[in-house]
Amino acid sequence: MDASAPVLPPPAKPRNVCTSCGLDFNSIEGFDRHRTGTHAYLADETHPDGRRCRTIEELRVLGFVQDQHGRWYQPAAAGTVDWDAIRARRANAAA
Ligand SMILES: [Zn+2]
Repeated sequence: MDASAPVLPPPAKPRNVCTSCGLDFNSIEGFDRHRTGTHAYLADETHPDGRRCRTIEELRVLGFVQDQHGRWYQPAAAGTVDWDAIRARRANAAA
């Protein structure tokens, strides 16, 4: 092996891969959010409101991006997290 060859990092282990669409998600919550439609039946031509995976375009509209391993996640948009409320809840829970 050529010692000057770049050493590539090992491929990332999949975390929450969807067996339907093949996308990998950083968290279970993100995985859950990528599915849409009623649970009663799967989506198809006659049941467009049925359960299905969102398209990549739909994920991007929801703010999903991919990390360096190709896993999809939703970074908290600036200003959308109420840290004061979270601190207050933690303080109440610890009391
Ligand atoms: Zn999927």
